[in-house]
Amino acid sequence: MTWDLIRKIGRQAVTPNLIDYQDECRGFSWHAARRSLFHGTPGGRGLNMAYEAVDRHLESPRCDHVALQCIGRDGRVTELTYLDLHVATNRFANTLRGLEISRGDRVFTLLGRVPELYVAVLGTLKNVSVLSPLFSAFGPEPICERLRLGEGRVLVTTPDLYARKISVIRESLPGLEHVLVTGDGPAPDGTLLLSELMEQASGQFEIPPTAPEDMALLHFTSGTTGTPKGAIHVHDALVAHRMTAMYALDLRPSDVFWCTADPGWVTGMSYGVIAPLTFGLTLVVDAGEFDARRWYRILQDQHVTVWYTSPTALRMLMRRGDALPREYDLSRLRFIASVGEPLNPEVTVWGARTLGQPVHDNWWQTETGAIMISNYAAMDIKPGSMGRPLPGIEAALLERGADGRARVVNGHVRVITDPEVEGELALRPGWPSMFRGYLGQPERYAKAFAGGWYLSGDIARKDEDGYFWFVARADDVIKSAGHLIGPFEVESMLMEHPAVAEAGVIGKPDPVAGELVKAFVTLNPGYEPGEPLRLELIAFARRRLGAVAPKEIAFDQNLPHTRSGKVMRRLLKARELGLPEGDVSTLEHPAR
Ligand code: ATP
Ligand code: MG
Repeated sequence: MTWDLIRKIGRQAVTPNLIDYQDECRGFSWHAARRSLFHGTPGGRGLNMAYEAVDRHLESPRCDHVALQCIGRDGRVTELTYLDLHVATNRFANTLRGLEISRGDRVFTLLGRVPELYVAVLGTLKNVSVLSPLFSAFGPEPICERLRLGEGRVLVTTPDLYARKISVIRESLPGLEHVLVTGDGPAPDGTLLLSELMEQASGQFEIPPTAPEDMALLHFTSGTTGTPKGAIHVHDALVAHRMTAMYALDLRPSDVFWCTADPGWVTGMSYGVIAPLTFGLTLVVDAGEFDARRWYRILQDQHVTVWYTSPTALRMLMRRGDALPREYDLSRLRFIASVGEPLNPEVTVWGARTLGQPVHDNWWQTETGAIMISNYAAMDIKPGSMGRPLPGIEAALLERGADGRARVVNGHVRVITDPEVEGELALRPGWPSMFRGYLGQPERYAKAFAGGWYLSGDIARKDEDGYFWFVARADDVIKSAGHLIGPFEVESMLMEHPAVAEAGVIGKPDPVAGELVKAFVTLNPGYEPGEPLRLELIAFARRRLGAVAPKEIAFDQNLPHTRSGKVMRRLLKARELGLPEGDVSTLEHPAR
């Protein structure tokens, strides 16, 4: 029943002018894509992300089209056209030039989702300097660590964030030469007022020659499994941003697109700034926090047509029930996609039922820079599956060794050819947005490759139709009484129970089984935690999963999430075992 529904709606979402997936795959080459999409900046100046996202539109009627539709925390909307963005980013680039910041120098942002952030990002890229975005909710320590590792010379922030988080670490950062603050001033001591500098700067700027391999972005990973890594991305990544946005998100110039991810995280940059602007479409930016009513209102009032969000956000909306979205007119919405964590089939089905569109899951990483595997717009969705590799992407599953990762013998690995066999998900290097290194950690980078493959650290399986199914992060796999269990399967099964809104599953050391499966569950409104429900959930799980069902279930209305919206299983485990919590700088609610 569920499957029929998804199939039906999935097909309706297919738009007639989409190119056939198989054909496209066969003829696809990144080289050709690059040539046909971008003709280089005028005068053969290479490939610059900001040129393609902003300046290219000046030659077309899109010049006066709204590029950014920024919703403030108070709900006030500020609009910037492509022309506005062109002038503002030129002023920012000139400001950097005036401060003697040039090619390759690192500019950090610590801002909420405000217009200045987008201006700083694109202005930095115009100057061929390197942009590194930080989550504004970071505390002083993670900020300091990243600024030091990334050798930040400039930081753009708000006076308030400066006072609370930067002033205390400023002295320990001698390399940080300039702090630019937003607002009307006066600027706190030791900082410069951005608006003043920009006013003095010229609105004309000539983008210097930019090589595709010039470094553009420095992105720190989510830190779900340990210390965050700084992934280096270059201007050429743009080719992948744009092509994947076309295939996996079905973006077109007429769209109003809302990506809910913060630009502090790779999704919020690749698909929250760069890719959508290259289409000349209108990008919705919300400075506010998650709130179910606010979000439905944005979808309705801004006439959002394509929406890119995360499983956590969707699960939170689900928790608020089916009646709420019916109060809003969501009829403009034609495509929904999700990333960051496994998308429970339950959520895909809920989207189809209550939002009128199924949710298209896709998989990628900070390291890959762009979507790699996706429930492509032109194919049937399989609920619970990540989809198939996009054109130009070769993905495979590699046989694993005793440590659960790909087995490497004399530099060789073995590709699994049979369907339904679990292995480490690997990608053939060569796509444009592939990371070019972990900053300052060459050994860690080298270890990410073997036998001609990039090793993702995720375990997956592939079905006969070529769809990939996420099993677990290699570090999260639970070994219980001879079974290897991926937490996701158990979590998704628990979510099928009406009481369960979200679940986090871990392995807990056990003298007999090696590890036993323990689940932490968040309940939907109207359900009481207690012994009867606990026993009911254990029985429910056992009926469905048999031996691999959780032996222990605990109630937790506040599962720890990273700021990019992932359940932090490693933290659940550390807390359960009374171990040190490790690096929790990317935790969403540190004061629990
Ligand atoms: P760190 O590498 O610091 O531990 P992280 O891996 O969470 O953090 P990201 O690059 O933000 O940092 O996330 C990529 C990971 O997110 C993937 O390797 C995968 O484990 C998970 N992920 C992303 N999308 C999906 C998806 N659609 N289904 C399942 N897992 C996903
Ligand atoms: Mg990772």
